[in-house]
Amino acid sequence: MFKKILIANRGEIALRVICACREMGIKTVAVFSEADEHSLHVRFADEAVCIGPARSSESYLHVPAIISAAEITGADAIHPGYGFLSESAYLAEVCEACHIKFIGPGPSVIRLMGEKSRARRAMKKAGVSTLPGSDGAVESEEDAQKVALDLGYPVIIKASNGGGGRGMRIVRSPEELSQALRTAQREAQAAFGIGDVYLEKYLEAPRHIEVQILGDEHGNVVHLGERECSVQRRHQKLIEEAPSAVISDEQRAALGKMVVDAAKAVGYASAGTFEFLMDTSTGQLYFIEANTRLQVEHGVTELVTGIDIVKEQIRVASGERLSFTQDDVQMSGHAIECRINAEHPTTFAPSPGRIDAFCLPGGPGIRVDTFIHAEATVPPNYDSLVAKLMSFGRDREEAIARMRRALEMTVIEGIHTSVPMHLRILADEDFQQARISTAFMERFLAPPTPPKA
Ligand code: ADP
Repeated sequence: MFKKILIANRGEIALRVICACREMGIKTVAVFSEADEHSLHVRFADEAVCIGPARSSESYLHVPAIISAAEITGADAIHPGYGFLSESAYLAEVCEACHIKFIGPGPSVIRLMGEKSRARRAMKKAGVSTLPGSDGAVESEEDAQKVALDLGYPVIIKASNGGGGRGMRIVRSPEELSQALRTAQREAQAAFGIGDVYLEKYLEAPRHIEVQILGDEHGNVVHLGERECSVQRRHQKLIEEAPSAVISDEQRAALGKMVVDAAKAVGYASAGTFEFLMDTSTGQLYFIEANTRLQVEHGVTELVTGIDIVKEQIRVASGERLSFTQDDVQMSGHAIECRINAEHPTTFAPSPGRIDAFCLPGGPGIRVDTFIHAEATVPPNYDSLVAKLMSFGRDREEAIARMRRALEMTVIEGIHTSVPMHLRILADEDFQQARISTAFMERFLAPPTPPKA
């Protein structure tokens, strides 16, 4: 087992990894930018190294600074968390060359899954249903026109190397295609350094369903069931839950097996998530992408399975076998997560700043993963996620009731947060009845239609 792990991240996920390491008796090294000097992950790690200024490209994304910090402190592994360098095949390769273990799958698997059009092809080959789309990146406008015509409008243009819900364009007619294609290629080049884009059939109001897996270096892969993350705004998840209200036990077993087989086919060894969209008119699920890292929403799966995904991820990275088999995985109850962002609840404007009053909810069935506290400052430089509020209940109804009272008992003053928005969503009849889709927020945020005269 590792003796010391460097955590190449910040915020709540850095603390989450510290929790796992402490429970396993592993020492931790925090890295931090100048903006995070007083952050909790710095306080709770055994050692901490400043790796640069606030700007991510010069700190949390700067591979030489992170590798130097690992070498100076004698860390034998790096946990990348999510975001930042978590899906960097380059960091994984540099780690290999420096004899530091990268806690994630190997660089070739990261690269394969990171190129979404290649990942789609690999999954198709492994027997997973993918959404109809172009075979790889589109070569030219004529190529795109032909593919779109075959697929039938609407279609969606996606960046081959995209992520974080960015660089996607919905096209509803042939006239819009050429302009949208050029803009998408330009945006992909600017955001991801590669201008390749591919086309996919666009589903109206699908449900987002994803499967959590864990694999070890001995060829064992298990699934931990699904999460539903349909409540999104601008392709960014806001609320996640496990299990999905629309997946039966039989479907879960079949979907899980399909994902496990596909993961085995690509030699997957770590924690990972395979994402699908459900066509709600047929119930059919289609693969869209795989994330080769820990996800923000991993906690809801931990609540319903009782399995600590981060500890297991560390264990398998050190070469150990998974500590359980598929038959050992028992799911019970229902868990929900609300992402608390530092942003205005109605305008969504970022709201960094100093927190004056702060009080976390507790009580039965509540888990909070956060890095903020009274008098903490939320820097303006990073992601707006400040806390993940999770609830667990015997069923969905109880999980919702607990979440509502936990939101009501959350005190964060000095900055705006999404707490009031979550309270309104949880009070919504459609949400309560699990009538959700990726179009839910659009309907929810639309101004009410004025009553007829
Ligand atoms: P990213 O990696 O940028 O998060 P994803 O491929 O995971 O991109 O898609 C994110 C979200 O975008 C999905 O959850 C869904 O809401 C929407 N989306 C992506 N592809 C499609 C599609 N073909 N049809 C409808 N919605 C889509």
